[in-house]
Amino acid sequence: MTRPPLRPRSLLVHGGSERSRFGETSEALFLTQGFVYPDAEAAERRFAGEDPGFIYSRFSNPTVAMFEERMALLEGAETARATASGMAAVTAAMLCQLSAGDHVVAARALFGSCRYVVEDLLPRFGVPSTLVDGRDLDAWRAAMRPQTRVLFLESPTNPTLEVCDIAAIADIAHEHGAVLVVDNVFATALHQKPLALGADVVVYSATKHIDGQGRCLGGVVLSSEKWVADHLHTFLRQTGPSISPFNAWVLLKSLETFALRVETQAASAAHLADVLAGHPKVKTLLYPGRPEHPQAQIIARQMASGGTLVAFETEGGKEGAFRLCKALELILISNNLGDAKSLITHPATTTHQRLSKEDLVELGISDALLRLSVGLEDVADLEADLLAALEAV
Ligand SMILES: *Cc1c(COP(=O)(O)O)cnc(C)c1O
Repeated sequence: MTRPPLRPRSLLVHGGSERSRFGETSEALFLTQGFVYPDAEAAERRFAGEDPGFIYSRFSNPTVAMFEERMALLEGAETARATASGMAAVTAAMLCQLSAGDHVVAARALFGSCRYVVEDLLPRFGVPSTLVDGRDLDAWRAAMRPQTRVLFLESPTNPTLEVCDIAAIADIAHEHGAVLVVDNVFATALHQKPLALGADVVVYSATKHIDGQGRCLGGVVLSSEKWVADHLHTFLRQTGPSISPFNAWVLLKSLETFALRVETQAASAAHLADVLAGHPKVKTLLYPGRPEHPQAQIIARQMASGGTLVAFETEGGKEGAFRLCKALELILISNNLGDAKSLITHPATTTHQRLSKEDLVELGISDALLRLSVGLEDVADLEADLLAALEAV
């Protein structure tokens, strides 16, 4: 009997493992900058690319390679490259394939630093960008120019959990010979597969669900062997936004529990969304797993779960939202997400403080909006904490 290919939970435990001659059970941490060669001829062959061994940890390291391979297997991508942070991954994925004179179209609702890269940084180097409402396919089409090389989006978006139709936007990109890059942090590789939907490149902040325990920064870019060879490989090798082997090792070991954590967090988020949806102190509830989400049809096509984040507006504007945060005892106030600890954020005054009043209105980020990243605590305790805090609103 032939065995079927390993399923995601098995890949998360074993994928990419390479044992050293000591036969260790747990993947080894190769905290080394460089590698030695048995003789000068071997060094020459390695630099010539005739021998595939390691040269220097700015661009390749055995522990980092195990993390990259495990991520590629989980995503169903041909290959992956790890970076020092999620922003290093996003910036590298954009800069490596753009030149002055090219044009970028991106969804307006982006993580703050991603928006800086697209809106402020790229234009300084002769790459103008157009920001569109990511939900509006006609807006994407209308923004395309002959020079458009890259489309960029995040879905679901931060913090309002809106959804972009990844397959339709990939088609628009490809009709114009452009590449679609998707930031898949909010959905995670477990619940959304942008490459299978037609995207060309996927980026992650591994700082979020992949670590999932609030310890270290990291990022990953996943794509085809060809795209990485044509664009990303040399860019990373020569500019060096490299991940520490130590952080790659932490992230590699974190992947072993990734599915357990994300499934539990998503189930708890779905439950808390149901609790909040009917609550008199909650004005609006935004959760991709709820049937009344305005894009429920697209979500059914492209997401396997509503995810681990819930956004909601309280009664009483900013004061109401702040009162709720103050009254929480178990849920902590922090801007991170995907963590084992449940975290609540007031985006208008923190992560999105840089945006103008008009931008905030356009993105639906009101003074009353809170974003909750659901952790691994007992969901009954989280529910009790939220319900008690809502009484303070
Ligand atoms: C956190 C985050 C990033 C940036 O990742 P860092 O690891 O903090 O650099 C990018 N995109 C999204 C959607 C994020 O949530």
